[in-house]
Amino acid sequence: MSQRVWNEKAETMSREEMERIRFEKLRKQLKRSYRNSVFYKQKFKEIRVKPEDIRTWEDFRKLPIFMTKQDERESEAESRERTGYSFGMHCLVPPEKMKIVRTTSGTTGTPTFGYSYTKRDYERFKECLARVYWLASLRPGDRVLNCFPALGGIHSSGGLWSGALLRMGVVPLEVGAEAGPERALQFAMLTKPTALLGSPSFAQSLIEASPKVTGKEIREMGIRKLLLTGEPGIEMPAIRRRIEEAFGGQWHVWWALYGEACAASCHGKKYQGMHEVAPEFSIHAEDIVDPATKEPMKVEEGTIGETVLTVLDREGLSFVKYATGDVIEVFTRPCPCGYTGPGYRFKIVGRVEDMLIVDGIRVFPISVRQVISSFSPRLTGAMRIVLSEKPPEITSPMRMKVEHGPGLEENDLTELKREVKAKIRMICGIMPEVEFVPPESLSRSIWKTSMFERKYEA
Ligand SMILES: [Zn+2]
Repeated sequence: MSQRVWNEKAETMSREEMERIRFEKLRKQLKRSYRNSVFYKQKFKEIRVKPEDIRTWEDFRKLPIFMTKQDERESEAESRERTGYSFGMHCLVPPEKMKIVRTTSGTTGTPTFGYSYTKRDYERFKECLARVYWLASLRPGDRVLNCFPALGGIHSSGGLWSGALLRMGVVPLEVGAEAGPERALQFAMLTKPTALLGSPSFAQSLIEASPKVTGKEIREMGIRKLLLTGEPGIEMPAIRRRIEEAFGGQWHVWWALYGEACAASCHGKKYQGMHEVAPEFSIHAEDIVDPATKEPMKVEEGTIGETVLTVLDREGLSFVKYATGDVIEVFTRPCPCGYTGPGYRFKIVGRVEDMLIVDGIRVFPISVRQVISSFSPRLTGAMRIVLSEKPPEITSPMRMKVEHGPGLEENDLTELKREVKAKIRMICGIMPEVEFVPPESLSRSIWKTSMFERKYEA
C-alpha cells in the first residue's frame, strides 16, 4: 500500500479551505451548545453574548474560558444529582444516546467522562485516531500490543484505541498496563506483536524485564513500531535513543486529549513536534492563552502558552473554550518531513499546575528534566524538584535531587554538579541547588513518574 496519509482529502487540503470548513462547524457547535445545554447557555449569558454574535475568528478568540477541569468535574457532579448520569451538564444529547462510557485515568483526582461518546462521535473518534496511527507508521497487518491502563471503572480509556486499530485493519492485542511487564511479555511471546502502544515508562519496564521473562533481549521480540504517549517529556532525545536502540525500532509520540487535538510525530532524526492530523474536528493549537492570566496570546511560530480546546462536530459531550491545562509550543511553519496536512505542529511543554515561578521566571519541570537527561549516562535521568512551599511561586534557589550514574568518584561529582547547574541556568534561566543521590534511589512508576517531592502541608 503506497497511501501516504490515512485520509487523502482532509490531509492534503489547503489551510484556507480547512479554515472555512472549521468556522462553519464552529458556528454550529456554538449554537447547539447554547441551545442544548444549561451549562453553555449560562456561560453565554454571563458575558451577554449569543452564539450568533460570533461572526469572525477574532470574535471567537476574545471569548473567555468557559470551562476548566474543575468546572468539568462540577458539571458532572451536578448532572449526577439532576439526571443520575455522570456525563455533565455540558452533554448535548439525552443520556441514553451515550453509547461508549469511558473516563480519564483519574491519576490527578476524580476521573472525568470526556472519553464518552455517542455512536456517531465514536465513529469520528476512530477516524481521527486512524490518522494518528497512520502517520505514526502503523499499517494494515500490524499487530499492536496495547499496554494502556485497561481495567474498568476509573482506569478505562484503554480499550477505546482498539476501535481505531480495527478500522485500519490492524490487530489490537489487549494486555493493559495493570498486567505488568512480565505478563505483557508472556502474552507478547504468544501473539508476536509488531508494534507497541503505551507509555515510555511501560516501554522501559519491558526492556528491563525481557531477559528475565523471555530469556532474550527485547529487540528479539520483533516489536519495531513504538507509539508512545501519556507522559510529559517523552520526546527527550536520551529517552528516545534508549528506547529505539533497545527495541531496534522506530519511536513516535502521539496525542489525543478526549480523542480531540489528535496529533502524532513524524519520521526523521530530529523531533519536530506532533502534527495535528484532524483540524476539522477541533480547535486547539490556534487558541492559546497566557497560563497565568488566561489572556489570549498571538499565535505564531514558537508561541508558548496554554491550549484552549473547542470541539467541532461533536454530538454528545461539548467542550467549548475548555482550558486544557496543557502548555504547548506551537509551530506554524511547514515541517521538513513534507507532511501535507493543513494543521499546525506542537510540542508539549508542561502542565499549568506544574509551572513554577522562581525569581519571576517561569520554569516548567519538563525542561529541567530534559537538561538532566542530556547528561546520560553520567546522570540516570531520574530527578525530583523539592518543594517546601506551595507552587507556583517558590523561593530561590530551586532545590533538586538528582540521581548520578554508577561508578563516579567524588571529584567527578564536583565537576558534574558545576556543569549541570550551568546548563540549567543557560536553558531555564535559573540557578538551582543540586543534591546528588545514588543511582536507583528515587522511586519509579510504571505509568507516570512525579517530578516533585512535596514537603509542604497541602
Ligand atoms: Zn513532520
